[in-house]
Amino acid sequence: MMKYDVIVIGGGPSGLMASIAAGENHAKVLLIDKGTKLGRKLAISGGGRCNVTNRLPIDEIVKHIPGNGRFLYSAFSIFNNEDIIRFFENLGIKLKEEDHGRMFPVSNRAQSVVDALLNRLSQLNVEIRTNMIVKDLHFKDGRVESVELINGDKLETNSIVVAVGGKSVPHTGSTGDGFPWAEKAGHTISELFPTEVPVTSDEPFIKEKTLQGLSLRDVAVSVLNPKGKPLITHRMDMLFTHFGISGPAVLRCSQFVVKAMKKWKLKHVTMGIDALPDFNEEELFQQVIKLVKEEPKKAIKNSFKGLLPERYLLFLLETNRMDPNTQGSSISNDLLRSFSKSCKQFQFQVNGTLPLEKAFVTGGGVSVKEIEPKTMESKLVQGLYFCGEVLDVYGYTGGYNITSALVTGRLAGMNAASKHEEPI
Ligand SMILES: Cc1cc2nc3c(=O)[nH]c(=O)nc-3n(C[C@H](O)[C@H](O)[C@H](O)COP(=O)(O)OP(=O)(O)OC[C@H]3O[C@@H](n4cnc5c(N)ncnc54)[C@H](O)[C@@H]3O)c2cc1C
Repeated sequence: MMKYDVIVIGGGPSGLMASIAAGENHAKVLLIDKGTKLGRKLAISGGGRCNVTNRLPIDEIVKHIPGNGRFLYSAFSIFNNEDIIRFFENLGIKLKEEDHGRMFPVSNRAQSVVDALLNRLSQLNVEIRTNMIVKDLHFKDGRVESVELINGDKLETNSIVVAVGGKSVPHTGSTGDGFPWAEKAGHTISELFPTEVPVTSDEPFIKEKTLQGLSLRDVAVSVLNPKGKPLITHRMDMLFTHFGISGPAVLRCSQFVVKAMKKWKLKHVTMGIDALPDFNEEELFQQVIKLVKEEPKKAIKNSFKGLLPERYLLFLLETNRMDPNTQGSSISNDLLRSFSKSCKQFQFQVNGTLPLEKAFVTGGGVSVKEIEPKTMESKLVQGLYFCGEVLDVYGYTGGYNITSALVTGRLAGMNAASKHEEPI
């Protein structure tokens, strides 16, 4: 029977990188994926452009991975974001930096990233089996023994790298298959939940689609605790949709909505939008008074035009029961103060998020407490490695998840390969 040094299960960024690292370390590697193509999620990532990593300093990268980012410090000391950039440049993929340190291929094509990884696999003679579902893993005497395929075949191996991803966007192949295998090996699975996911609301203005399609640029979006204090605030763009809110600031806030609902057993959580975060409330109020005084006979919708996007301005005026056509001079200071306040802190209720299947990223997963942070090997079963989104590591959008997948994949592959010299 054919015996492999390393079997990598899953051809996403973590599994592709693990296979390459194992191949570069002269191991006999088999990469198995259930899909017809490798890197399906990678190919649609970053809006089809693949935000392959991020160039911020390591401490910042860790901060942008709220789900156990600190676990990655050891891994980053061996292979980090700058190594990823060099790795791709050596494969002929030039990267460019965009806002917030986000790195994309100059080609703007995620597929070019996937193709470069596939070329490297072929140079290294990594054997690939697509359209092949792994059904189960077998362990014996505290170490890995074999990988069982859906057709009943069992493939013996020294090391298994589980790189099957989480449970989000299952049509890309990530259907949570790795969690029962990890449990079978004795691992703890931290509860799964959707993260980087649009947030839902049953507020009348959402149901009535009053603001649907409106984007707010560079606003500060907060999730509030039951006492009204912000749990988290993210200053980025956001979007109103037909079911709630979305856009970068909201995606980042989404896991805090999920966690708050769970922690305080809430059906609704309050969120706030500060549409003018560069002013404090008093400064804004003075500005509003100044605008009114400059042209007291002008309709307020025109006086305040430059303050906010028109639809949002009209919405906030209406929320404050202010007729947009009223002349500024006839409006009381109290009402102007209340309007300024809602520009700074428009609060509304949200009632959850879209489901895990629709989330960009899966929160929770194989507990990192039972994984060696320098090798990605299981502390419970020898020769068993985990990498990528199957781990309880989850980052914000912005290249952090692919970074985590590539870095943990690199370590898993390198170390899995080192096992092939050991007798079994
Ligand atoms: C639309 C979208 C856009 C995104 N954009 C970005 C971005 O720009 N930047 C960023 O950092 N992150 C982004 N993410 C998140 C990022 O893509 C994932 O975190 C990353 O792909 C996870 O990599 P992975 O290798 O762990 O798993 P995956 O990419 O999920 O790959 C897992 C692979 O395992 C295979 N598999 C699963 N079960 C089995 C089995 N039983 N047998 C055989 N094979 C199996 C699957 O077919 C799949 O190919 C995005 C996610 C989505 C959904």
